[in-house]
Amino acid sequence: MERVYNFSAGPSMLPVPVLEQAQKEMLCYGNTGMSVMEMSHRSKDYEDIIYGAEALLRELMGISDNYEVLFLQGGASTQFAAIPLNLFKNKKADYVITGQWAKKAAAEAARYGDVNIVASSADKTFTYIPKLDKSTFSKDADYFYITANNTIYGTRYTQFPDTGDIPLVADISSNIMSEVMDVNKFGILYAGAQKNVGPAGLTIVIIRKDLIGNALDICPNMLNYKTHADARSMFNTPPCYAIYISKLVFEWIKGMGGVSQLQKINEEKAGILYDFLDESKMFRGTVVKEDRSLMNVPFVTDDEELNAKFIKEAKENGFVNLKGHRTVGGMRASIYNAMPLEGVKKLVEFMKKFESENK
Ligand SMILES: *Cc1c(COP(=O)(O)O)cnc(C)c1O
Repeated sequence: MERVYNFSAGPSMLPVPVLEQAQKEMLCYGNTGMSVMEMSHRSKDYEDIIYGAEALLRELMGISDNYEVLFLQGGASTQFAAIPLNLFKNKKADYVITGQWAKKAAAEAARYGDVNIVASSADKTFTYIPKLDKSTFSKDADYFYITANNTIYGTRYTQFPDTGDIPLVADISSNIMSEVMDVNKFGILYAGAQKNVGPAGLTIVIIRKDLIGNALDICPNMLNYKTHADARSMFNTPPCYAIYISKLVFEWIKGMGGVSQLQKINEEKAGILYDFLDESKMFRGTVVKEDRSLMNVPFVTDDEELNAKFIKEAKENGFVNLKGHRTVGGMRASIYNAMPLEGVKKLVEFMKKFESENK
C-alpha cells in the first residue's frame, strides 16, 4: 500500500523524513541500545531530547526568555480549565466565540468566574471572524481569549486584537508554526500537538513568566503552570515519545528554512485551493475571503449526494479524510505544514476532473 494524501484535521499527517528517522531509531536510539519509548525520562539521553526540542521551538518561534515553554498532557481541552484556574484574580475574562473550541473554552471558564462574550460569529455559522470593538472589552478582565485558527470552520485571525495590558490568550492548536507570529503580543499561546506538530498526547504551552504563580487555591497541582515551570516539564513523566517526534518535526521545519519559509509554502498551497474554489462552478468555499484559514479549507457543493460521491471517489484516488466536521458537513481539506505542495496540486486536479465528469 502506498502512502495517501491525508487531509485529516487531526491527528494529521507528519513529514515522511520524520517518520523515516523515527523508524531508523525505533529499536535503538543513538548508542542507548533501546527505543526512546523505553528510556527513563530522567536519563541524560532523554533530557537532551526534551530540552533540545524546547531550544528548537524557542529558536523557530522566536520565543524570548520572558516566556516559559511547557510540554504538558491532557490536550488543548485541558487548557480550557487551566487558563482560568491560573489567571483568574478578578475572576473575569473576555472571550471571542468563533467556533466550537472557543465555545467550549468559554463554558469551562464560566465554571470559575465571569465570562464576557465580547463578540461571536455564531449568527453565520462561524464563517467569519467578528470585527472587535475595543470599547466592549472589560477593563478589569484577567485575560482576553481567542481561538487563532478555527479548525472546524476554517477561519483565522489575520490581525490580533490589541488588548493593552490585559494578557491575550490564544489557542493555536491548528496553526502553530504555520505562519510567523509575534509571541511577545501574547500572554499565553497553547496548542495540542496533533494538528501541526507531532503525535497526540503532547500539549505545548508558551506562557509569559509573570503570569505563573498566581493560581487559584482550587487549581489542581497538575494544572498549575508553576508546578511544570519549576520542574521544567518533568514534574511527572512527560509524553516522552510525542516530544521526541515533535523534536524531529522541529528539525524538519528548521531544515525547510524555518516558519517564515513554511508560511510562504502554506500561502501558496492555500492560494491554489482557494483560487480553484473561487472559479469552480461546482465547489465553493464556505468562509468569507478575508478570514480564510491557511490550514483548514472547508468547501461544499450545493448537493449533499454530490458531496458524498466526491468524498468517496477522492478516497479511492488516494485523497483521504476530506469529509467535513460532523457538525458542518460538506468537505474540509486540512493542509498543515506536512502536506506537500504536490498534494494540494493533485487534489485540485482531481477536483477539476470530478467537476467535468459530473456536470
Ligand atoms: C483540536 C483542537 C482542540 C482540541 O484539542 P484536544 O487536544 O483534542 O483537546 C482545541 N482547539 C483547537 C483550535 C483545535 O483545533
